[in-house]
Amino acid sequence: MHTATITLYPRLPRRRTRLARLGDWMARHRRAILAVQWVIVLFYLVLVALPAFLPHPHPEARLFSSDFGAASAIDRTLCTTGVQTPTDKAAYLACWQDRLVLLAQYLFWGVWWPFVILSIMLMGRVWCGVLCPEGALTEFASRHGRGGAIPRWMRWGGWPVVAFILTTVYGQLVSVYDYPQAALLILGGSTVAAVAVGWLYGKGKRVWCRFLCPVSGVFALLARIAPIHFKVDRAAWDEHPLRTTAVDCAPLLDVKHLKGGAQCHACGRCSGHRDAVVLAARSPNAEILGAGGDTPRTGDAVLLLFGMLGVAMGAFLWTVSPWFVRGKQAAAEWLVARDIFWPLADSPAWWLLTSHPEAGDVFSWLDGAAILVWIAASALLLGGLCWLAVRAAARLAGIDWRRLALGLVPLAGIGLFLGLSMMSVTHLRAEGLPLGWLPGLRGILLGVGLLWSAWLGGQLITVGAGSLCVPGIPLRGQATAARMLAGLIWLLPLGAVGGTWILAFYVW
Ligand code: SF4
Repeated sequence: MHTATITLYPRLPRRRTRLARLGDWMARHRRAILAVQWVIVLFYLVLVALPAFLPHPHPEARLFSSDFGAASAIDRTLCTTGVQTPTDKAAYLACWQDRLVLLAQYLFWGVWWPFVILSIMLMGRVWCGVLCPEGALTEFASRHGRGGAIPRWMRWGGWPVVAFILTTVYGQLVSVYDYPQAALLILGGSTVAAVAVGWLYGKGKRVWCRFLCPVSGVFALLARIAPIHFKVDRAAWDEHPLRTTAVDCAPLLDVKHLKGGAQCHACGRCSGHRDAVVLAARSPNAEILGAGGDTPRTGDAVLLLFGMLGVAMGAFLWTVSPWFVRGKQAAAEWLVARDIFWPLADSPAWWLLTSHPEAGDVFSWLDGAAILVWIAASALLLGGLCWLAVRAAARLAGIDWRRLALGLVPLAGIGLFLGLSMMSVTHLRAEGLPLGWLPGLRGILLGVGLLWSAWLGGQLITVGAGSLCVPGIPLRGQATAARMLAGLIWLLPLGAVGGTWILAFYVW
């Protein structure tokens, strides 16, 4: 069990804000946080593992409705009326198994993931530092493991992009949202890898989270717009009169030089350290507009443009797009007309392509190929358009294109929330809940994302700051006409992404 290594010194400012005191509380109460983490680990393991070993729910099974169907249709009222005979008992058990599987699906994909995304935009990476079960397990393994040095290949900055794209695409091929076996394979596989990496490398650190976690890159981007962060006062740090023990920062950050919230897991362990670290409020635009925060790398911008706005949108939308269905039908007709039938054969294994005959859901090779083509086309068209527009606008405005790309973080983050909440909506609709409010709420969220990103881009292009300039190209020197043209070009990615969501929610 880990013990806190941070000491709080008496030189803390007399008036601490509530937020600062909350950060200090986190530093002092590591045991309470660890207890919460282990409860979540248990909950997560049950949610991921148990449903994979239960039968697929009956098509009419419902989670909340009292008239849900049983896995055995002997008597649909059994779930509410109770057990009568041994045969009834089996049906009764099947009812509750169905409910358990549905509950796990609903909690995992309908509640857990969309609200993790939202929490990171609102509170920074508190999820990573305080609640994530995978992070807790990898750190625990690292405390008791081999403690090896981190290999060079693991530090490659492209892993978050590659891992995010691969898990997103593979998740679609095996229908990860619908089948607990697929969820166990992907999420359980990721957890096993996290524990193995923790056991092999680092001494009590989260090497997996820092370098390999498939969502760490996305979370780092979203945390840039969080209105709270752990702020380091460099002057106070340097002036501190006492020698202090090093901060036990699990994601291996150099706390003294910490800038912004992108990489910080907001675990609170460093709060109050050398009277210089404090949990503080800030403008959610501060990090994007260049007042603090890590300089964005090419990998960050590529993940944002091609991953979050390309691959992820393709993955969300193929299930609702009539274009996808028409394209696949046309391809099937083309194949049949030429007597080519093997692409229409069923998937040989559920872990390769979705294959659940008990649920009447079996992909053919053509289905798999169509999903791959759709997602690749989304990445190239949407991501490529955003990339070209950002590059052109940044060049005209004389700013770093990676910095300008960050202006799209609010739109991409809200898009992820909207896309993931499509699963929540599917579950609520199946339960028969009235959803008349949904189009309005989606419209408001989309509007917020579009306006926020439009404003950020406008600020970066027209106001900027000295630190944002490309070396040798002073921002102030750009002609007004060039910046106006850059502003117009900035509207292209907003229009493309916003238009795609409008198609998905209001037209298709
Ligand atoms: S800098 Fe490190 S120790 Fe401090 S809150 Fe962030 S993750 Fe935790």
